[in-house]
Amino acid sequence: MIVALSVGSVVWFLMGLVLMVVLWRTGMAMLQALSAPPAPPPEPGELRKMNMRYRCEVCGVELKLTLAPDEDPPPPKHCLEDMTVVAPLYD
Ligand SMILES: [Zn+2]
Repeated sequence: MIVALSVGSVVWFLMGLVLMVVLWRTGMAMLQALSAPPAPPPEPGELRKMNMRYRCEVCGVELKLTLAPDEDPPPPKHCLEDMTVVAPLYD
């Protein structure tokens, strides 16, 4: 009787352990999926050389875009707003 009871406890303990590991693994997999790094950037040969300047209308910061994966890339965001093109310079 006592032996049967302890064997039962061991089985429950093992089941709990397995469940814990499964839950932990699932949680870790979900975390990894959420924090997965973005797709790797295209090869340098696939990028176009650009010379675009954008300005943030909110705070006035300006930046220069020198490489983009396509001819007309979407404007970057700053201060939660799309930045405006200052002067597209092709040289
Ligand atoms: Zn800004």
